[in-house]
Amino acid sequence: MRVRYSPLSQQFADPEPIFEELRDLVASGDFTLGEPVDAFETAFASKLGVKHAIGVGSGTDALKIGMRAVGVGPGDEVITTANTFWASVGAIAELGAKPVFIDCDDGFCTDADLVESAITERTKAIMPVHLTGGAADMTKIMAISEKHGIPVVEDACQSLMARLDGKTLGTFGACAAFSMHPLKVINVWGDAGVVVTNDDATAETMRLLRNHGLKNRDEMVMLGYNSRLDSVQAVVGKWILAQVDDITAKRRANAEYLDRYLSDIPGLSIPLRSPRVEHVHLLYILFAENRDDLLNHCQENGIEAKLHYPVPVYLQPAMQFLGYQAGDFPVTDKNSRTMLTLPVDQHLVPTDLDYMIEIIEGYFRQPS
Ligand SMILES: *Cc1c(COP(=O)(O)O)cnc(C)c1O
Repeated sequence: MRVRYSPLSQQFADPEPIFEELRDLVASGDFTLGEPVDAFETAFASKLGVKHAIGVGSGTDALKIGMRAVGVGPGDEVITTANTFWASVGAIAELGAKPVFIDCDDGFCTDADLVESAITERTKAIMPVHLTGGAADMTKIMAISEKHGIPVVEDACQSLMARLDGKTLGTFGACAAFSMHPLKVINVWGDAGVVVTNDDATAETMRLLRNHGLKNRDEMVMLGYNSRLDSVQAVVGKWILAQVDDITAKRRANAEYLDRYLSDIPGLSIPLRSPRVEHVHLLYILFAENRDDLLNHCQENGIEAKLHYPVPVYLQPAMQFLGYQAGDFPVTDKNSRTMLTLPVDQHLVPTDLDYMIEIIEGYFRQPS
């Protein structure tokens, strides 16, 4: 038996309804920032319960534009997590700013208790990362933000529709970034991102930044980017956004089922499940001391398990210039050494889940 990692061929098994809308789009020639982008943005803002949603070229650009809008520029420092996906750090560097790393908590997200001690006079923004579908402790982080007057740009690219204390992620900070990359909670046919805010002036700046800083056809009021949400992706995004509640409910149910059977196996553990967090389980993570062996065992038995991420971003060759050393972030280090990711998406069926449980239980039952 095989349990595949990516659900995309199932997610788009019947593309006809999307093709129908794309035919209308092609006939209209409305290819840049037209009706499809407006319609997507309205739907996204309403789904999230936020005043403004602005479609941009990618989740990376959503972070970059959000940071620019709160004033991050060359020489500034932005506090973020040592175990995040490459893009959080890339977006900071694109602005000429410097990532300042802190460790993550037991739920894989930015450790709120470490934020304050990382603040310097150069800190221009705090970028908590909600990794794996979970939530950083935004209540604590917002209190620090207010105390020091430093804005928060949430990296919510992996955690669309997750909640902390009943409040949707992406609605805590000054602004927040989401991604619709094919491997995120909702996915389009290429790259796309969204940046959200409740503040009118911030929204206005972000709309300018994504489109060359153009106020109108002939007036460029700031230097911006070409990072508009593609109209084709807006059509796909609106179609799939309508399914997001169903997608997250199924991911959550799958994760709860796996938790029930996998959390009691000696030698295996799962990340902390905080009752304050409504997790959306973009990634289903397990911890095992003999992780590499378990990974081989899964793969040999047809389960496409993965690692997120075996070498954390702070130890990547591109980040050497910051001068961090292996061991600087013990939770991140332990996670990268012991973590394993199983498929958990909305298109898995009960036999897939049972098969993964059987193979993993079997591994820990074998005489060593
Ligand atoms: C995917 C991701 C991004 C960037 O999104 P793209 O759309 O791929 O540019 C940023 N941060 C995190 C944590 C992500 O997982």
